[in-house]
Amino acid sequence: MSTTTGPSPDRAAAEAPDRAAAEAPSRVLVLNSGSSSVKYQLLDMSDGSRLALGLVERIGEETSRLAHTPLLDGGRATRERFGPVPDHAAALKAVAEELAADGLGLDSPELAAIGHRVVHGGLRFTEPTVIDDEVLAEIERLVPVAPLHNPANLLGIRTAMALRPDLPQVAVFDTAFHTTMPEAAARYAIDVETADAHRIRRYGFHGTSHAYVSRETAKLLGKEPEEVNVIVLHLGNGASASAVRGGRCVDTSMGLTPLEGLVMGTRSGDVDPAVTFHLMRVADMSADEIDTLLNKKSGLVGLCGDNDMREIRRRIDAGDERAALAFDVYVHRLKKYIGAYYAVLGRVDAVAFTAGVGENAAPVREAAITGLEELGLAVDAGLNAVRSDEPRIVSPEYARVAVAVVPTDEELEIARQSYALVSG
Ligand code: ADP
Repeated sequence: MSTTTGPSPDRAAAEAPDRAAAEAPSRVLVLNSGSSSVKYQLLDMSDGSRLALGLVERIGEETSRLAHTPLLDGGRATRERFGPVPDHAAALKAVAEELAADGLGLDSPELAAIGHRVVHGGLRFTEPTVIDDEVLAEIERLVPVAPLHNPANLLGIRTAMALRPDLPQVAVFDTAFHTTMPEAAARYAIDVETADAHRIRRYGFHGTSHAYVSRETAKLLGKEPEEVNVIVLHLGNGASASAVRGGRCVDTSMGLTPLEGLVMGTRSGDVDPAVTFHLMRVADMSADEIDTLLNKKSGLVGLCGDNDMREIRRRIDAGDERAALAFDVYVHRLKKYIGAYYAVLGRVDAVAFTAGVGENAAPVREAAITGLEELGLAVDAGLNAVRSDEPRIVSPEYARVAVAVVPTDEELEIARQSYALVSG
């Protein structure tokens, strides 16, 4: 086991409080289980502080890695373990050992709940939900519309349930925030019987982030969520936009799956659906091959070979034309969605940028907003260039619509929602 430097300073932990004062169990373990990874954070909801975080990656391979960072008392040294972790049960057992070594074991009476990120909740799950056998069965029933994500989420849930069967386990769904979308936005214009038979409609994803960021944006404007209309641009490796009216989502760019909408790191976003059957016919590609093409080999990576915006900017600065094209396609799509959601909302109070690209890539924000002055949108070059972990406004004072950078915190939101549910 080696020790390396941990992640950048944590806002919540920096405000660490007197935890001894808390009486009722107030800790929530947040689990985000992917097919070959588990990310986790332990939070104390008496004040929202973070006690530990980490991830296990390459589960099922010889080269698995666990990186665990305790955050108690300002400690930030990351501990790493290398070596095969055969499955999710072994991964969670290793996480439990690391937490126990810091006096934060999963058997602690201070643990109030385990909150699980679940990608697809269909139409049924509009709220965070305490997991029982029936909820598990429904998440399982949704596997056909979320074949990559829900099985991995289920693995994490079942493993955690076996570890602490007495503890409330809460599912927080990526789709839940978008269930308020009106039919006009959620329906695809295809045959209704076929659509309904196969549950084909627009569900949207990243909902936990859109919910958190739209609320934080209202706070930044000094208003209640009910008072403001916000366009949220979640630009990470996956990317999605949402139109939020008075705290409720009325449209979002991802659809049946996370493939629709914006140009992403490796996903195409919107394409003419005919591209798929055209490729089947003229390139003799299978459905699986096209699935891989559009999800893994498209977007920025398909356009220029890189999906990291930092690298793309470096290449552009060095005069690379493919990188410049990728950037232009990315920004053009983003701008189209800002315009579309402006029209959907009618009145916009703020456009909020979030996630890896949205929070860090000033050139993306500038390029997406430039030219929209007639819509009341503008970016102040000086404010936009400032680097900060805090929510901030980067538009000039005269602009009618605020342009904001609002760091997302999906783990805090999952912990909040889980805790609110179990603590009544
Ligand atoms: P996800 O959670 O979807 O994996 P993140 O929200 O962490 O993604 O975003 C990851 C992406 O953010 C990276 O692929 C990179 O393109 C972008 N990114 C991160 N830091 C910076 C930065 N300083 N400047 C520009 N882009 C950045």
